[in-house]
Amino acid sequence: MNGVVVVGTGIAGVRAAEALRGSGYAEEIAFISPETPIYRPSVSKEALKAPIVGQAAMPLKRSATDFTWLLGHRVEAADLATRSLLVRTPEGEEVTRHFDGLVIASGLRSRQLAIPGPTLGRFTLRTLHDAQELEPHLKPDARIVIVGSGFIGCEVAAAAIARGCQVTVISPETTPLASAIGLELGERIAAKHRAEGVSFILDASVVEFLGAESGQGSVTGLLLDDGTRIEADVVIEAVGSRANTEWLDDNNLDLVNGVLTDGFLRAVGTDQPVVVCGDIARHPNALFGPEVRRIEHWTAAGEMGTYAGKVMGQLLTGTEISLAPFANVPGFWSDQYDLQIQSFGIPSMGSEVVIIDSDADGNCIAEYRDASGLVGVVGINRTSEIAYYRKLLNSRI
Ligand SMILES: Cc1cc2nc3c(=O)[nH]c(=O)nc-3n(C[C@H](O)[C@H](O)[C@H](O)COP(=O)(O)OP(=O)(O)OC[C@H]3O[C@@H](n4cnc5c(N)ncnc54)[C@H](O)[C@@H]3O)c2cc1C
Repeated sequence: MNGVVVVGTGIAGVRAAEALRGSGYAEEIAFISPETPIYRPSVSKEALKAPIVGQAAMPLKRSATDFTWLLGHRVEAADLATRSLLVRTPEGEEVTRHFDGLVIASGLRSRQLAIPGPTLGRFTLRTLHDAQELEPHLKPDARIVIVGSGFIGCEVAAAAIARGCQVTVISPETTPLASAIGLELGERIAAKHRAEGVSFILDASVVEFLGAESGQGSVTGLLLDDGTRIEADVVIEAVGSRANTEWLDDNNLDLVNGVLTDGFLRAVGTDQPVVVCGDIARHPNALFGPEVRRIEHWTAAGEMGTYAGKVMGQLLTGTEISLAPFANVPGFWSDQYDLQIQSFGIPSMGSEVVIIDSDADGNCIAEYRDASGLVGVVGINRTSEIAYYRKLLNSRI
């Protein structure tokens, strides 16, 4: 027996392994990943508040000794037909690892802007190492320029303000967070950022990173598409991510924007026991129609992992899958200043937004609807009220 290999030690891979073991699978379950398991949401929050050592550990539900941990290892290539992986060890050797079942949970990596200029002084945020590199630069009065006004960009802006930095956010969006939660709530959250001292340059694109005339050294500024030059001590690129799928090339899988799955989170294109979970999975969700999408939320990635681990348990016993197709209510949260932003469902599906329970500080609940009814909800400082919506969305089937 070769056991099950889980590629990735994020929340999706970890929950998949725990669920597989919980289903009675007694053979080896081995993780392969360059990274130790971490609580990733802390990377743009707690990890930037002060130097961190040893914080941000992943909450494990089972004993770590249930599993084999090949940390510092990276999968370079897979041959699903022969159930084998080419693995690079920390010493740089290439070894072959066989599996009886494979869990694909290799997540995403940060995207960087492909424009000219120096690379020093530019940061992205995905790993604990990224946060540890950035944190010492968040000094009082440091000029921090963040490119991107999504959740990570906005959370880093709040963290840098708390450290006394001068913060500018540059974004092609006309309203921060608009693509995720719409204009109305995006404006409310932007107003809070402005009140805390963040400057926004919106509807703008960066065309070049500027440095010393010699072309040596760190980034000193940015050139925008309208010719404006912005000075910067540190630039943080929060411009989205790419799926870590390259190791799966040439296996007949659909790797356009993640790995396509069927309704049971099995990889489409292979009849081997291969499941996909977490940020990398482009999957249908029985609660929200046949459309396939990727969801990048911590709780959702864990829920996918748990489901995928159960499916793997059934695939390896050769029984018919007795589970209902995957269905969950994706949920996320984001902490910015004293704002607790929480969401359930898929607000970006909504064609209509109804704001209720709004107060003078901008706190509120927003309901997102399409022709099928309620598809999502976002609350700003409405943590107890919003829980009700999760049940409501769960009853969409
Ligand atoms: C900075 C930041 C803040 C966030 N904050 C929030 C939040 O507040 N709320 C929220 O709901 N969500 C948040 N998220 C999203 C949430 O963290 C992710 O949805 C979740 O971590 C995804 O888990 P995952 O297991 O799918 O992938 P990941 O956590 O990305 O794990 C993927 C794993 O695969 C490994 N890997 C990659 N390539 C290979 C390879 N070739 N071989 C072996 N291993 C490989 C990686 O090293 C990693 O261990 C945040 C994300 C980031 C980046």
